[in-house]
Order: sequence, then C-alpha cells, then structure tokens
Amino acid sequence: MQLSKYPRVKLIHSPTPLEYLENLTQHLDGPDIYIKRDDCTGLAFGGNKSRKLEFLIGDALKNKADVIITAGAVQSNHCRQTAAAATKFGMECIIVAKPSWSKEYNGNLFLDELLGAKLVLLEEDNEALDQGGKLSMEETIENLMADLKTKGKNPYYIPVGGSNSIGSLGYISMTMELIAQANEMGIEIGSMVAASGSGGTQTGMILGADVEKSGIQTVGMAISSDATIVIPKLKDLCNQTSDYYELGLSYEEKDIIFNDNYIGEGYGIPSEEMIEAVKLLARKEGIILDPVYSGKAFAGMVDLIKKGYFDKSKAVVFIHTGGTPALFVYSDSFREYIQN
Ligand SMILES: *Cc1c(COP(=O)(O)O)cnc(C)c1O
Repeated sequence: MQLSKYPRVKLIHSPTPLEYLENLTQHLDGPDIYIKRDDCTGLAFGGNKSRKLEFLIGDALKNKADVIITAGAVQSNHCRQTAAAATKFGMECIIVAKPSWSKEYNGNLFLDELLGAKLVLLEEDNEALDQGGKLSMEETIENLMADLKTKGKNPYYIPVGGSNSIGSLGYISMTMELIAQANEMGIEIGSMVAASGSGGTQTGMILGADVEKSGIQTVGMAISSDATIVIPKLKDLCNQTSDYYELGLSYEEKDIIFNDNYIGEGYGIPSEEMIEAVKLLARKEGIILDPVYSGKAFAGMVDLIKKGYFDKSKAVVFIHTGGTPALFVYSDSFREYIQN
C-alpha cells in the first residue's frame, strides 16, 4: 500500500522504538514480550492519536481548514494531541469535552488550554444531557460548526479519537513500520495487543497486518464498551476503510478479536488490576503506562499470558498507545498500592 499517495503532515518521531521487555518476559515465563513505544511519538507528550493526526491534519490542510473541532472526555489524550497538531499548523482548535471520572484541572485538561485550545465543557455525560433536554455532544458540535461557517470560517471536524478511515491510515502505517522493524531484528510476531476505544487504532492494525499478509493477530482490549457494541463498529470501520482505499479486504464480526474482560467498573474508573499492571511495568522495566487505556490493556495482556493464551514460540508486541499525562490525576488511587 502506497501511503505516500495521501495528504500527510509530519508530526511524530518515527520509527518509534521496538523494545524487548527482558525482565517481564522472565517474570511471566511466557512468550517473548516486546513493546512498541508509541507513547514516544513526541508531539506534546506523544501517544497514538498523533499518528492518525498526520493524515487528518493533512486532509484538513488540503481542505483549507482554519479551525479544527474535535471532542472527547475531559482527560482525552486525543484532544490534547489534536490541540498541539492544530496549533503547529496555524489552525484554531475547539474541544468539546464531556465529564469523566476525574474532575481535576490537571493532566490533559490543563495541557489543552496550555496549547491554546478553546474548551467547551459539557456539564453532564451525553445520555444525561439528551434526557435533560440540553444539548448533546453531537448537537453542540453541529451548532459550533454552523456558527463558525456563518462567521466565514472553514471548520474541519475530527471525530472522537480521530477514528475514521483517514485516521486509521496512521495505524496501517504503524503496522507497516513495526513489521519492517521486526524483520530487521529477526523477530517473529504472533500477536499485537493494544487498548481499543473508538476503534481507529485497532482497525489500522488489522488492515496493516492483512495488507502486509503478515499473519499477525491483533488483540484489542476494551476500555469502555462491551464487545457486543464494539465488534460491529470495528467490523464496519475495517470494511469502510478497506473500501475507501480500495484494499480489497473484507471482514465479518468473527474476524475481530476484542476482549472486554478487563474494563473494570467503566471508562476511566481505576481498577486494582490496572494499578497492579502499571506498577508491574514501572518496577520491572521503568516504563510508565496510563490509567485509562494502556494500563487496563496491559493488565489484560499479562493475564492472558498467565493463562497460556498466546503461542509461546512467537513474540507478543504490546503497542504502548501513550496517555501518560492522565496518570497524574490518578495519583491518589495508586497511593496505597505503591507505598511499600
Ligand atoms: C485513544 C487512545 C487509545 C485507543 O485508541 P482508539 O483508536 O480510540 O481505539 C488507546 N490508548 C490511548 C492512550 C489513547 O489515548
């Protein structure tokens, strides 16, 4: 697949490192475990959204946009990286943010404003707003778009998580990069594991692995919604993206591996397993995960390794999707577990 055909800007440090987790591999006595350091993409503390934004901002510039509008939860890593990317290319950024577990003015919320984004904070979560007759996130965005257009602006909307066909290119690109690195290092990868939320990351990984005919399995780990909700969406986004770029691939629900056993109580709500996983990687390898996405996904991967889920003869690669600025608003939840 010729990625150079599509509009793109340069935002990230690439290739991101592919590191062997020697201590963790020994500790778990399972397959060789590697980590792809997409927390080190570079832009404003890094993370997976910057890969998608290379193509999304490329498309926005092609469309001569002057304002970027996007949305997410208050601690959204996507919104922070979008704010950084927009400002770098001289565009305004408006973020529509809905409340989540943490109410603290810190982490990503603080960084959004530091990066110059304008925040439109919704008072309650989406459903509650609909029921209360107030504006939902979607209506708020539609109104903002209409208002900007009457003022002669040219707004460009990036969906939650940057997850559409254009954004998914970022993770097709990551997968091609990873396969090239693995070939060079002589590593045979059996599975890639990543946190999966709005779906663009997993979609790109699935398509990238198939475009390259690599046989690598993509395991998405749920962080908010159950498999019954997410798998049909992932299947649709995979098919849409394949059609959009004429890749000739097609997917059914049974082709999508998505594990929803490690969400805990819900999106952004800390779980004991997440805290133990973050602590484990910190103390074995000195690498920091985040509490909302990579921490829960890593907890899931460790548990599956312990249960013998993966073929021990091939490597498992954890895709570290970033999110570390959110960790600081969770320090109180960690305290009793780490003071020993
Ligand atoms: C957004 C995000 C994800 C999930 O990516 P999607 O493409 O939305 O599925 C995973 N990890 C982190 C840290 C994120 O910010």
